[in-house]
Amino acid sequence: MVLCISPSPVIRICRSAIHEGYQACLLGFVLLISGCTQGPTDQRQTLYVFGTLLEIHAYTDDASVFRDAVAELELMFAQMHKDWHAWDGEGELVRLNRALAQSESFEASEALQVLLIQGRDYSEQSEGLFNPALGRLIALWGFHSDLPPGGPPPTAQAIRELVAAAPEMHALNFEGRWLSSANPTVQLDLGAYAKGVALNMAIDKLRSAGIQHAIVNAGGDLCVAGRHGDRPWRVGVRHPQGEGVIASLEAVDGECVLTSGNYERYREFDGIRYAHILDPRSGYPVEHVASVTVIARNGGLADAAATALSVAGPQAWERIAGRMQVDQVMLVDEGGQVHLTPAMQARIHFETEIAEIHVAE
Ligand code: AMP
Ligand code: MG
Repeated sequence: MVLCISPSPVIRICRSAIHEGYQACLLGFVLLISGCTQGPTDQRQTLYVFGTLLEIHAYTDDASVFRDAVAELELMFAQMHKDWHAWDGEGELVRLNRALAQSESFEASEALQVLLIQGRDYSEQSEGLFNPALGRLIALWGFHSDLPPGGPPPTAQAIRELVAAAPEMHALNFEGRWLSSANPTVQLDLGAYAKGVALNMAIDKLRSAGIQHAIVNAGGDLCVAGRHGDRPWRVGVRHPQGEGVIASLEAVDGECVLTSGNYERYREFDGIRYAHILDPRSGYPVEHVASVTVIARNGGLADAAATALSVAGPQAWERIAGRMQVDQVMLVDEGGQVHLTPAMQARIHFETEIAEIHVAE
């Protein structure tokens, strides 16, 4: 807490200055000015979570409240990492996936149940293009690993067989908290939307700790609360095909900005890059899209939609965005052309020359 010195001691100092000279009086005024004008300052802390650096940046006048809130967030993220990891450790999702593979039912926590119902809904809205039941296919492509996979891609036959087995979210049965599936190829991977959910939760936690102005940023995916002093938080969207930032925008209180990019993780073999975003219809990585950015108040929805629209591509993204009810979208295709919704066009500022911009009707 920054102390603002009240006028009375200053007046007292100034009165006594009549006897003791002007130095004390001046000192009093300096203290008054510096004490009162400090107000909120920038507080920053970086954590390593979900395999990425996560920066918490608050604009607050209480550094100790910030420190305590960050310590709580660190615990929350560690718990999420453990519970929601698809392949590492013995967390809840790993145990659920094991039960599903053995055609057994599993009693999930309420938090996981809620998350999976959300995932099922987004999957349905996206016509299955967002499909968190694809865990086996993601593992087949080598992306269930902290290190980038190497070597040749999986065989066409292995991919065909998994796609034909149709691991889909509607094959997951919910009986209260008990989950089961008649399809043992259903394996859950929350990698396409858990980060957005977690960012929203982090902002909620900061607010309930009394921090009203903050930005939580995990490698360019972020949610914001409040403003940075007298101006909104200004954020950049990474250029998917070059260095630096393609565009910037002002994120307002409660918004999240989530980007899916084929540059984030990929497998490289024989000069060909295989991106980590998979098309559930073919079983192969998406090719036609470099990145998709979605702005929404619901971070989980924005994250799921960014992935779904990457799969939908330049031809189908508008329809899927409409079905998922996201109206602020930017898609950069493989050729570097930018596709925008009118609502995104109204607020985005390009930081680099764009060859062609298409604005949806
Ligand atoms: P994102 O960066 O949000 O697009 O998430 C990509 C991650 O989601 C990948 O690393 C996979 O773990 C997973 N994933 C890949 N393709 C899909 C898909 N079509 N639907 C849901 N999750 C996917
Ligand atoms: Mg996503």
